[in-house]
Amino acid sequence: MEQNQFVIEAAEVESMAKESGLSVLQLLPCLVKSAQKLARPPISKYHVGAVGLGSNGRIFLGVNLEFSGLPLHHSIHAEQFLVTNAAIHGETELKYIAVSAAPCGHCRQFLQEIRGASEIKILVTSTENDGEDHQVDEDKTLSFRLLSTFLPHRFGPYDLLDKDVPLLLEPHHNALVFIDDDGDYPHHSHENGNIISNGDGDVADHQNELKCAALEAANQSHAPYSGCPSGVALMDVEGKIYKGSYRESAAYNPSLGPVQAALVEYVAAGGGGGYDRIVAGALVEKEGAVVVQAGTAQLLLQSILPRCDFRVFRCKASSSYNCKKPSS
Ligand SMILES: [Zn+2]
Repeated sequence: MEQNQFVIEAAEVESMAKESGLSVLQLLPCLVKSAQKLARPPISKYHVGAVGLGSNGRIFLGVNLEFSGLPLHHSIHAEQFLVTNAAIHGETELKYIAVSAAPCGHCRQFLQEIRGASEIKILVTSTENDGEDHQVDEDKTLSFRLLSTFLPHRFGPYDLLDKDVPLLLEPHHNALVFIDDDGDYPHHSHENGNIISNGDGDVADHQNELKCAALEAANQSHAPYSGCPSGVALMDVEGKIYKGSYRESAAYNPSLGPVQAALVEYVAAGGGGGYDRIVAGALVEKEGAVVVQAGTAQLLLQSILPRCDFRVFRCKASSSYNCKKPSS
């Protein structure tokens, strides 16, 4: 079954299931192979595909992304991509996930950031017929196993946070505002020349839009452990913007950086071909933060997008916004 979109709307899911004579749950593992084809793993060449079912019947895809020339910890795992893709689209639950290979320890941990994580049901397509005694779900035809069986003695959000703190797929409103309007220019060798106006505004408008989008992403960032939310916005040659919110893990290391999150949106939005269509980026993070993204963000962008105009803006917590929300 071929599927090249990263989000499949509920009505389309229903019609795909009907056409193929499958239940929606049966559809999930059938989409894993086509998801794998969308992975970008230039280092391992190991394609991972993850397919998740949201609360209202939407299906989300995730793939692994690796970056040549950088340490492996910059990589994005397919399950992280899936969760980020779901979060971008306002999804609040992922109850079923089919994935091409058993989730690694890093991903089992990252998934703990979803409320009710232990109840998430996972089907590993590569071991679907391995003869093990899997827990059979109500569909009676597929063997999903609870995430709690993959990670029985877990460290998670509740070890560090109060129960009412919003978790990863829940709405975040960090109430950050800009400190001033002057950005830092850690990588500014190309001035504004590679930002192409699409005719409905000039370069300055684009840059303001980019900066506001990065603030918006920072305001949606999940950073309850460090208190250092941040966000990135990337702009392609046509002026289209892709936002990424920093998302922390209780175990720290599996946290997903804001540039990675923005690249998830870029790839999920159909950013086919290379990353070289991205020409500008902005990072917004708190002044005086103990977790600072700027250096790592610059390193990652410079490595994959050497021509990208990248700027850093500082923000602070406030009770009100000073940047209007994007209309979309
Ligand atoms: Zn993983």
